[in-house]
Amino acid sequence: MSRIRIVVRRLLLVVVAVLVAGLFLPESRQIPVVGAGSGDWHPDTFWYYPWGRSGVHKGVDIFAIKGTPVLASSGGVVLFRGELARGGRVVLMLGPKWRLHYYAHLDQTVGNGLWLAEGDQLGTVGDSGNAAGKPPHLHYSLVSLLPLIWKADGAPQGWKKMFYLDPLRHFAGGGQ
Ligand SMILES: [Zn+2]
Repeated sequence: MSRIRIVVRRLLLVVVAVLVAGLFLPESRQIPVVGAGSGDWHPDTFWYYPWGRSGVHKGVDIFAIKGTPVLASSGGVVLFRGELARGGRVVLMLGPKWRLHYYAHLDQTVGNGLWLAEGDQLGTVGDSGNAAGKPPHLHYSLVSLLPLIWKADGAPQGWKKMFYLDPLRHFAGGGQ
């Protein structure tokens, strides 16, 4: 089957999944690196500025030994599992509340299933993509496809906070 047909089939499955479960699935908030805690990221990692070609850092970098298991923070559908120039080996998932979960710089991806439950291993921490030469870490971004307009602020590119949610608040259970 062609790549495009596989993607279309996955998108159809996603639509069905959303219709069935929609916004009502409970969203879990697991820190996606085994053993990681607040000492494993910089407190200002989210929206750190200035940040290379992206301008601001739209996620959290969780540092860990290369090979440490990376787990799905929330259950959901795998939309993409593969390699990107900047992200390196990545997994992109759609989870509850129309939110994308992006896991980047993996050393390896693990498994090939379409569905992952919270806590399922999806890869290992690495330094792939533009993390090459830096300490191994997981880049994790949490993106709302629905604009949360009240989250926009005056920070650089602050309007994009309608979409890019703060993973640290998310892990801490902050309502968003
Ligand atoms: Zn990052």
